[in-house]
Order: sequence, then C-alpha cells, then structure tokens
Amino acid sequence: MAKIAFIGLGNMGGPMAANLLKAGHAVTVFDLSKDAVEILVGQGATTQSTAQECVKGAEFVISMLPAGKHVSSVYLGNDGLINHIAPGSLVIDSSTIDGLTAKTVGQALENKGIRFIDAPVSGGVGGATAGTLSFMVGGELTQFERAKPILENMGKNIFHAGDLGAGQVAKVCNNMLLSVLMVGTSEALQLGISNGLDPKVLSDIMSKSSGSNWTLDVYNPCPDVMENVPSSNDYQGGFMVDLMAKDLGLAMDTAVSSQSSTPMGALARSLYAMHAAAGNGAKDFSSIFNAFGHKESK
Ligand code: NAD
Repeated sequence: MAKIAFIGLGNMGGPMAANLLKAGHAVTVFDLSKDAVEILVGQGATTQSTAQECVKGAEFVISMLPAGKHVSSVYLGNDGLINHIAPGSLVIDSSTIDGLTAKTVGQALENKGIRFIDAPVSGGVGGATAGTLSFMVGGELTQFERAKPILENMGKNIFHAGDLGAGQVAKVCNNMLLSVLMVGTSEALQLGISNGLDPKVLSDIMSKSSGSNWTLDVYNPCPDVMENVPSSNDYQGGFMVDLMAKDLGLAMDTAVSSQSSTPMGALARSLYAMHAAAGNGAKDFSSIFNAFGHKESK
C-alpha cells in the first residue's frame, strides 16, 4: 500500500483515483470542485482543504489537470507544491500538456530532489473507469519502474517512451492520428448515408475491410450504430472537442518546433477549431460527424 496524493478529479482523474482506492492505497485527494472531492471521499479517500496539505507525507503525487498552465501553476506557481512535496517523492503528471512545460516543471522539481515523470494517458473515460488506460511515460527508467506498479492499478499498457517529455510527444502523435481517423471515418460514413447506405451495414463492412480503425471498432461517430458510446448519447461524456482542439494545437506546436510536415494533422486541427467555434466545444469529439451532414432539400 502506498501513500498517494491525487490532484484533479475530473472526468479522468475521478475514476483513476477510485481505482487506486480499490487497489488498497491510501489516497488523499484535492480538486477545486468540492463535488468532485465528495464523490471520492464517499469511496474511501481522505482530503485536505488545500493542495499543499494534501501532498504532505505522500510518496507519490499524481496530477490530472486540464492543460499546461494548470500544471505549471499547481507545481511552480505562488506557494506551489514544489515547496511542499518531500524530496525523494515521485510526481506523476498524467495531464496532456506540451512537452516543453512537462520538461520545465519536471526539471524544476528534479532540481529540488523531487522525482518527476510525464505520464499522459489514452483510453478515455471508459478506460479510466475500467482501469485499462495506456500510459506513455517520459523520464528516467528507474522512476518508470518505480511508478509501474501504481500505474498498473489504473492501466493495462504501460510504455516507457523515452526521456523527460517523451510521454507527451507520444501522446500528441497518437491524438493527432486519432483525430485524422475520426474525421475520415465521419466523412466516409456520411458519404455512404448520402448514397442510401445503412450506417450499421457500412460500418460493419469497413471495420472488416481495409478501412478498419479504432473509431469504427469501439467509438462509432454515427448515432445508434453502437450502444454505450457518446454518439448514441447526444455526444455527451467522453472526450470533449475543446480538449481535442487543445491536443491538436500541441501537435502543431511540436511539429513547428521540429520542422515536421503534418498536413493531415493541420487540417484536422482547423476542422476541430471550426467545430468548437460553432458551439460544439463541450460535446464529445466524435460529434465532428455532424460537420459533414448531408442536408435534405425541402
Ligand atoms: P476535466 O476538466 O474533467 O477535469 C480536470 C479537473 O481538474 C477538474 O475537476 C478541475 O476542477 C480540476 N482542476 C483544475 N485546476 C485545478 C487546480 N488548480 N487544483 C486542483 N484541481 C484543479 O478534464 P479531464 O477530461 O479529466 O482531462 C484531464 C486531462 O486528461 C486533460 O489534460 C486531458 O487532455 C487529458 N485526457 C482526457 C481524456 C478524456 O477522454 N477526457 C483522455 C485522455 C487524456
């Protein structure tokens, strides 16, 4: 049993912390949302009134926050956690943020003797709840090995991607590819529907043909093709358009700084930015399906 502090109990962090409790760890939680904290306390977590108190005595500190600015301010900001975490403890940041912020925060903590790995995840809210996430870890191999038994309580596939920041690079590559697959699958399904095909039949054909991909297998964007996916629940829950747009921005920053060509990713970023600007930011990212809808003329 480990003493773990968990900061950020949103769609992902909440179920991840719940799985650590189920595995028998002593988990102290903190979130700006009192409701989110109460849910975890109801499942056996303890809490403190500030994040600073929450990390006292913790061997592991895990954060699952929206973006780089939140991670920076929680650790390095005014009275940041850098001044409260015991040297030798391991910080595991699982938020999806830019590699540069991960490196800056990680290096500042390491300079004070606090160990750090970036460990963003893939698998969505379903994977967080089921404890089947994929973790992509950047940092020293010894710290990766130290974190692995903890991460295995929340995930199924735990990868060491490379040095500090490498986890975040792997994550933006994966999400850029996912966005391209989601856009491509959506337009293919809409093309079939506009030409009289049943989307269930077309999905079945493509998923067993060379167009097969993850979105067709487990996350079909067309309503009522699959049960228990956001598209069949008015695009509620899941992975928000705003967060996908953020990740694609990170992918573009990474491409520019390494002079890489990412034309499909650039197009997907523009499409998701337009979709968010049209008022869909809080919907699941599979709602991009509706951007290609065929309008019947009356
Ligand atoms: P979310 O918005 O549901 O949760 C974020 C939580 O952080 C909120 O509860 C918020 O109150 C809390 N928070 C913000 N600032 C804080 C602070 N200073 N101190 C304490 N708590 C604070 O977001 P989410 O969907 O859980 O995503 C979290 C991260 O995981 C993001 O970086 C996202 O890109 C990534 N991610 C999300 C998914 C997904 O499917 N939702 C999948 C993979 C990765």
